[in-house]
Amino acid sequence: MAEQKVEVDPVVRSRLGERTLADLRRNLWAIDCQSCGRAFGRFRTPVLGVRDHGDTATVALHHRRCLPSPWVDAPEVSLAGEPMLSWRASVALLPGDRLLFLVNPSCESAMLLPDGDGWRVGTLELFMRLGLVTDPLDRSEEALLVPGLNAALHPDRLSVHLRAPAGLPSHSWHCLTNPLSPVMPRLQSRDRLLVGVTTALRVGSGIRDYELLTAMADQQIAFGMAELLRAP
Ligand SMILES: [Zn+2]
Repeated sequence: MAEQKVEVDPVVRSRLGERTLADLRRNLWAIDCQSCGRAFGRFRTPVLGVRDHGDTATVALHHRRCLPSPWVDAPEVSLAGEPMLSWRASVALLPGDRLLFLVNPSCESAMLLPDGDGWRVGTLELFMRLGLVTDPLDRSEEALLVPGLNAALHPDRLSVHLRAPAGLPSHSWHCLTNPLSPVMPRLQSRDRLLVGVTTALRVGSGIRDYELLTAMADQQIAFGMAELLRAP
């Protein structure tokens, strides 16, 4: 969980504070600019832009040239969502022969919630409101089942859908599956799949076991169990 290099305007710095900024650096990943949709490239430092909706705020990464104002009051949350947002998903075999579908649902953006006079990062809380939990170890498989969370194994990919009630965004993610992978026979023989949602890991780029365990111990992954169907 490396801290990311991000440029911060003095106004944003004073309103968010160093603690929240440090948290954002651990939970934002510069892939595409959230203004123009183009990649940052290796040598570009992204700049933080905040949209303040009053009771929540959205932080996202932009090219400096694309961001006219680092803090914007935007009472209405856009119904179009965040079409340029990147997500990354992968499936891993854990010790004990357990399978985990791990997803970072919002690489370049984070949700902020009010915290006293300031703000704190609350992206995972959106998923916890849908029934996912950050302390899965003492819970049975049945207790981890989340209504609205479903997985489907297709010939070439594994897809996961999280249906949310009205007013909250639903999510669909997938990862490609290799028929020769040791994961495949296990996927084909199971009818449930553990799903982990995190913004603290660079999912899809070879996460090490200790990084996963550290994120779990720090309650940076929200888990839920999905029914796994086999799709034609
Ligand atoms: Zn841009």
